[in-house]
Amino acid sequence: MDQISDIDSQIIRFYRVTKHFGETCALQDLSFNVRKNEFLFITGPSGAGKSTLIKLLYMGERMTGGYAIVDGMNLARMGRRQIPELRRRIGVIFQDFKLIDSRTVFQNVALVMEAAGFKSRSLIRERVEDLLELVGLAHHAEAYPPTLSGGEKQRAAVARAMVGKPKIILADEPTASLDPDASERVLRLLRAAHARGATVVITTHDRDLISRFDARVVYLESGRRVDSPGREETG
Ligand code: ADP
Repeated sequence: MDQISDIDSQIIRFYRVTKHFGETCALQDLSFNVRKNEFLFITGPSGAGKSTLIKLLYMGERMTGGYAIVDGMNLARMGRRQIPELRRRIGVIFQDFKLIDSRTVFQNVALVMEAAGFKSRSLIRERVEDLLELVGLAHHAEAYPPTLSGGEKQRAAVARAMVGKPKIILADEPTASLDPDASERVLRLLRAAHARGATVVITTHDRDLISRFDARVVYLESGRRVDSPGREETG
């Protein structure tokens, strides 16, 4: 267990978390912690449980055993009505972007603020424009997602994840469908989110990509945490 004095500095705490899908055990006895404003990779082969872990974090799925705290909220006991509150603290980025094709890039990003209850048109416009500038898509604000490249779509998804100023950004294989240059650019934007104060958790099976960033790595294999030889685990 961790030192008591560390508890306040941890925004995510998993203790012996298990997730079963029927007979399949996707995660088994998984314990790990993430510090506030940490930039962390979760890696492992296909089927290791990486996506399941992300889904548990935003309550896309419920754990079947164990104990988890995310930004002070107890996931094991959370009722449905608390889920929106949890999700306001989290921005999520997916491998397949999950943009709304019938809305412009601007509208896709603005929707998050509208859903969070922001009423001021000018505030929404100002913040969305800032974010689109940051991700290099200001000139595509009025474009529809199907007209964009994969890298551009993912940069729009990063803007959408950041616009509500969430404390935590989760990215599930955000670069898996991108070429190396676009991947690097998306990772640099996630670094920028980290520099603005967010805690960032990224799953990827791309070890080359991980090796280019100085960050802690948690390794999964068949739903269990494993230590990679030569790396000291501190969380
Ligand atoms: P990864 O993201 O590392 O590829 P996943 O978390 O997607 O791994 O999957 C972990 C295991 O859980 C796999 O055996 C997968 O088949 C299983 N699994 C994931 N989601 C479901 C589901 N909704 N129903 C049944 N089995 C699932």
